Amino acid sequence: MPEPGKLFSEGKGKRIYETDDPDYAIVYFKDEAMAYHGLKRGRILGKGEVNNAVCAHIYPLLERNGIGTHFVEQLDRRQSLVRKCEMIPIAFKVRNRAAGSLSERFGLPVGQKMEPCVLEMYYRDEDETAPLLNAWHIRAMKLATDEELSEMEAVAMKVNSILTAYLAEIGIDLIDFKLEFGRYHGKVIVADEISPDTARFWDAKTHEPLDFDRFRRDLGNAAEAYQEVLHRMMGMDEQ
Ligand code: UDP
Repeated sequence: MPEPGKLFSEGKGKRIYETDDPDYAIVYFKDEAMAYHGLKRGRILGKGEVNNAVCAHIYPLLERNGIGTHFVEQLDRRQSLVRKCEMIPIAFKVRNRAAGSLSERFGLPVGQKMEPCVLEMYYRDEDETAPLLNAWHIRAMKLATDEELSEMEAVAMKVNSILTAYLAEIGIDLIDFKLEFGRYHGKVIVADEISPDTARFWDAKTHEPLDFDRFRRDLGNAAEAYQEVLHRMMGMDEQ
C-alpha cells in the first residue's frame, strides 16, 4: 500500500498527502465539519469513513460510464489513492431543485424543480468568498480554456444524469451537487469529492435531507443520515 508522505493541502473535509510518485496523492477524509465560513464547527462521527466509501462507489460508477476521474482505489476506511492533478479553481454546482443559496438569491421555494437543471460556476478563491463566475470571467481571468470549459460543462451534465438515475434506485432525490475538476496529463478529470458533504441528498419519500444540511441547519441525526446513504449504496452492491 502506498504510504502518505508530506501533507500537501488541507480543506474542510479532507487532507491531501503527497506520495513518492508525483502522479498520485492520498486523500484522507476527516470527521470535522465546518459551515458558514468557519463560524460553525463540529464533528460528524464516522463522516470521513462514509465520504471515503461513497466516493469509492460514485467515482468507479462514473468511470464505467466513460468519465475520467481522479479516483484510483480505496486504501483503507478513511484513505483513497487518487491521481494528483492541477486543480482548476472553479466550483461547478448542478441544481435539480432549488435549495441553499439558489433559493435565497432568487426567492425560490426550497424544493422547486429546476427544469432544465441549473449549472452555476463559482471562483475557488484563496479567501473562500467564492463569487459567482460566468464564461466571460473565466476567459478574461484565464481560469480555463474555452475547450476545457465546454468539456467540464458537458461532463457536469453527464454526471448529473448518471447520479440522478443511480440515487433514484436507492430512494434518494439528488437536489444539487458541487463538482471540481483537475488537469492530469493534458486531460480534464473530475477530482475533489462527491459525497453528502458536497451534495444535497433527500430521501425520495420523506424529503428529509440525508446530507451536510443536517449539521448546517441543526436538524440532528447527521451521523445516522450519512450512514443511511452508505447503507443504501452498499445494499445496491449486493443486488
Ligand atoms: N457546496 C459545497 N461546498 C461549498 C459550498 C456548497 O460542496 O463550499 C455544495 C452544497 O453542499 C450543495 C451545493 O454545493 O450541495 C449547492 O450549494 P449552495 O450554493 O446552495 O451553497 P450552500 O448555501 O448550501 O453552502
